[in-house]
Amino acid sequence: MPGFMDMAIEEARLAAARGEVPVGAVIVRDGAVLATAGNRTLELSDPTAHAEVLAIRAAAAKIGSERLIGCDLYVSLEPCAMCAGAISFARLRRLYYGAADEKGGAVEHNVRFFSSPGCHHAPEVYSGIGESEAGRLLKAFFANRR
Ligand SMILES: [Zn+2]
Repeated sequence: MPGFMDMAIEEARLAAARGEVPVGAVIVRDGAVLATAGNRTLELSDPTAHAEVLAIRAAAAKIGSERLIGCDLYVSLEPCAMCAGAISFARLRRLYYGAADEKGGAVEHNVRFFSSPGCHHAPEVYSGIGESEAGRLLKAFFANRR
């Protein structure tokens, strides 16, 4: 579903414009968008305010449930360990992500959270969707900060 990933990448662009690390996320159920979010760790002075966590909180509040059954998450970058944990607790059905994150990713790199023994729910994972644009945004962001 490139349309939803395009929305996630647009959220990443908006995050970059706020000076945040450019990561964006969208949560979808039955083809309808429940929540969109971008990183806001600086703005909120909150190290947990990653795009995925903010989108999960907003979607859960919207449907009035701690479990996002049948919901899918689109995120521009491979989730970190914290977000992978949140995705598991939220019982998300599918995870679609863009660029791989060899340094901080926890899905197909490092701790590989979803295949670790402490993980009790793993989403179906689809990677590499829109990764060139998501990766380009991140590279541009970090190049500008140097
Ligand atoms: Zn994260």
